[in-house]
Amino acid sequence: MNIYLLTNLVYIVAAVLFIFGLKMLTSPATARKGNLISAIGMLLAVVVTLLSKGIVDYKWIAAGIIAGSIIGAFSARVVAMTQMPQMVALFNGFGGITSLFVGWATYHVMTTFNLFTTTTIFLAVLIGGVTFSGSLVAWGKLATYISGRPILFRGQTFLNGTLFIGTLVAGALLLMNLQNGYSYSYAIFIGIIILSLVLGILAVIPIGGADMPVVISLLNSYSGIAGCAAGLAIQNNILIVAGALVGASGIILTNVMCKAMNRSITNVLFGGFGATITKGNMEIDGEVKPVSPEDTYFILEAASSVVFVPGYGMAVAQAQHTLRELGDILEENGSEVRYAIHPVAGRMPGHMNVLLAEANVPYDKLVEMDDINKTIASVDVCVVIGANDVVNPAARESKGSPIYGMPIINVDQAKTVIVLKRSMAPGFAGIDNNLFYKENTRMLFGDAKSSVEAIISEFKKS
Ligand code: NDP
Repeated sequence: MNIYLLTNLVYIVAAVLFIFGLKMLTSPATARKGNLISAIGMLLAVVVTLLSKGIVDYKWIAAGIIAGSIIGAFSARVVAMTQMPQMVALFNGFGGITSLFVGWATYHVMTTFNLFTTTTIFLAVLIGGVTFSGSLVAWGKLATYISGRPILFRGQTFLNGTLFIGTLVAGALLLMNLQNGYSYSYAIFIGIIILSLVLGILAVIPIGGADMPVVISLLNSYSGIAGCAAGLAIQNNILIVAGALVGASGIILTNVMCKAMNRSITNVLFGGFGATITKGNMEIDGEVKPVSPEDTYFILEAASSVVFVPGYGMAVAQAQHTLRELGDILEENGSEVRYAIHPVAGRMPGHMNVLLAEANVPYDKLVEMDDINKTIASVDVCVVIGANDVVNPAARESKGSPIYGMPIINVDQAKTVIVLKRSMAPGFAGIDNNLFYKENTRMLFGDAKSSVEAIISEFKKS
């Protein structure tokens, strides 16, 4: 069989594996297998690409594989779950710069002018460059190397728009120059690279840290589109397919996240959310009622239905294993135990699912927000563990609140709510939470893991 045919047949198999893998990633029960299936698809694609006649030298490829594997294996081991969003930001950035480099290299090997190739090179460089520098800013904000507050200045949108149009004009000039054989086309090309990098930085600095996960998902999509453009430039079918899949799934995820926060993508990109710390304008009445682990034990011991609502604080405290232990104890005690998952709890989509899966919480005990809300009034105790914004009734009650309209888990409608957190500090959106003052709420202050351990030891004493 000729190598071209074989390569493309294997590419089709790889593309099918990608699609099945993606489909399986939509449920926690099949996600791990989906990841593995997609990885096998990618391995097949890489191996068959290495057989291609176009490869001039394997030395550099081997060096790249070794360096990449070492960095990948090392970071997978040392990066904590709470640092995962910034790691994903870096990976997106690397995807973007790779497409930029592929476009750049293709520019050098292009012997005669070709409109299609030049256009796709331009797109790979532009989108790849924006993705790279934008992802670095997102990474810096999440890793707190730069301030998470939006950086806003007068005329910012106008400047960004002008730069974007300027880049498109430079692209048109590049086409004309190459077509007419003018010698300064390379200078224009380098100018486009610089402009795209500047655009990426300017596009992300006005966005607040709280919106970074949405931006990362969007940049993830851009990295796919850049890859797709690079695939078109070098006429590689699997790169086109993989890039298109990443591009489309990234857009879908961005949309899901925006819906879960009741925000539009324009508001996320241009709204400067978090520029000012707002207290919201809700009425806060009632007083905070702290509770001890002993009293929490008595409340839980008597409950016939308990719902755990995890949030970012559970990830910080790494309390998922202890929480599961408490869940098991409560079930042995005759309670019905469920875990309510808000789509944007934590700092990345699926954050809570991943942590609870790591602690072997059975998938059938995880309940989505809409489903738990239907039955929340009959729940005896909701235990909020390190969640804040996603259970803030201001989203329902306070019209002036920045999170007004965001769907939340209505824990305040349960018979009793116990909130585990260290202080009265606000969550990521920086707004007060009147849940903490409600009549049926008790506050168990302290690190979430230590608090759960203290409750468990009360159960063990009894
Ligand atoms: P929040 O950021 O609102 O609140 C987390 C709470 O955890 C804090 O109030 C903090 O209070 C508490 N906490 C921190 N460390 C500990 C600890 N060791 N033990 C106990 N408590 C702790 O988290 P949510 O999950 O409720 O909300 C997620 C936020 O992120 C939302 O605003 C959402 O819109 C935003 N977001 C999430 C995205 C996603 O994909 N998941 C995407 C985009 C935005 P204290 O300091 O007092 O302990």
